[in-house]
Amino acid sequence: MKLLQEKLAKYDIPQKAMAAGIYPYFRMIESDQDTEVIISGKKVLMFGSNAYLGLTNHPKVKEAAIDAIKKYGTGCAGSRFLNGTLDLHIQLEKRLAEFVGKEEAIIYSTGFQVNLGVVSCLTGREDYILWDELDHASIIEGHRLSYSTKLKYKHNDMESLEKQLQKCEPDKIKLIVTDGVFSMEGDVAKLPEIIALAKKYNASVMVDEAHGIGVLGKQGRGTCDHFGVTEDVDLIMGTFSKSFASIGGFIASDKETINYLRHNSRSYIFSASNTPAATAAAGAALDIMLSEPERIDHLWKLTNYALEGFRTMGCEIGHTSTPIIPLYIRDNDKTFMVVRDLFDLGVFVNPVVSPAVAPQDTLIRFSLMATHTQEQLNQAMDAIQTVFKKYGII
Ligand code: PMP
Repeated sequence: MKLLQEKLAKYDIPQKAMAAGIYPYFRMIESDQDTEVIISGKKVLMFGSNAYLGLTNHPKVKEAAIDAIKKYGTGCAGSRFLNGTLDLHIQLEKRLAEFVGKEEAIIYSTGFQVNLGVVSCLTGREDYILWDELDHASIIEGHRLSYSTKLKYKHNDMESLEKQLQKCEPDKIKLIVTDGVFSMEGDVAKLPEIIALAKKYNASVMVDEAHGIGVLGKQGRGTCDHFGVTEDVDLIMGTFSKSFASIGGFIASDKETINYLRHNSRSYIFSASNTPAATAAAGAALDIMLSEPERIDHLWKLTNYALEGFRTMGCEIGHTSTPIIPLYIRDNDKTFMVVRDLFDLGVFVNPVVSPAVAPQDTLIRFSLMATHTQEQLNQAMDAIQTVFKKYGII
């Protein structure tokens, strides 16, 4: 056997979980994707989606995607740089910049590619990237590609951030990168404090709004808008794979920064542009975000109910204050078993185990959508109570 295959053959973690009947990944959905989905012929309630506004199945979003295919075809067959720029891209970029309160924006093919291509290319060898230890993997991959010095600070810990800022040479560029809403934990970055430190140390700030847009701020404009700090944040990143019910992502900033990224960000230049259907779907989702604020109101009504309900139930839910609710289990196998039992009771939730989180921090990620009904939420919470009691979690 070749050395590579010999090494890979020893990787048996999935097989063990499969043999135990608790393997929780790649469950195949056979239906549309609203609050109920069909998996292996079984109807289950979906409490694992990131489509916070529940727009993946919205007739106007689907119609926009279909119309875009009819007009432009199925793909762009080229990079934005060369033959892959459509009027559709330019129009949406203008609207997104305005939506988040920045001068300009550019669209990438995924949110992962935004962070990869932006974080990697703004700072040089003598500069610094400061990042929260719970930042999304795409931010981490982005700074891995940068030659700058990387300084990790403790999660949402301003003392730790300041200590790291003090290590930096005063006349070098310092870029602080943080999730706005943390993707697994659901807590919100302390943006006002981060901005205050950035001002004190002359640092720049980039906020990943993947989970903030559609949820926080006026009409879902995100965490920066929620705190009223948009002007002081230098770069705002967003993705279409959550509230926008599509695929793709964007970065918004001042004209000069976007001009630089447009000509230097490698995942933007060397990858084909976002498909017409995905771009148009995101645009239609933005229309709905702006015109149907009642969706966000309902999402928050459910969120506050669930946060209070889980706490009363005795669940450990960390510092979340958003529709992302981590239910800490703190044991890998137990997390998988809970996910399986909940599925048997008709509830889909996501397991989050090592290496996504530290082994002692395993959790179930329970997430809400604006299309969930109060009855569906009650049904899911009852099932969670039953299963958590069975395993002695509460
Ligand atoms: N940032 C954060 C905080 C995320 O949670 C995600 C996706 N899980 C991404 C970036 C990447 O976005 P996309 O799915 O569009 O690649």
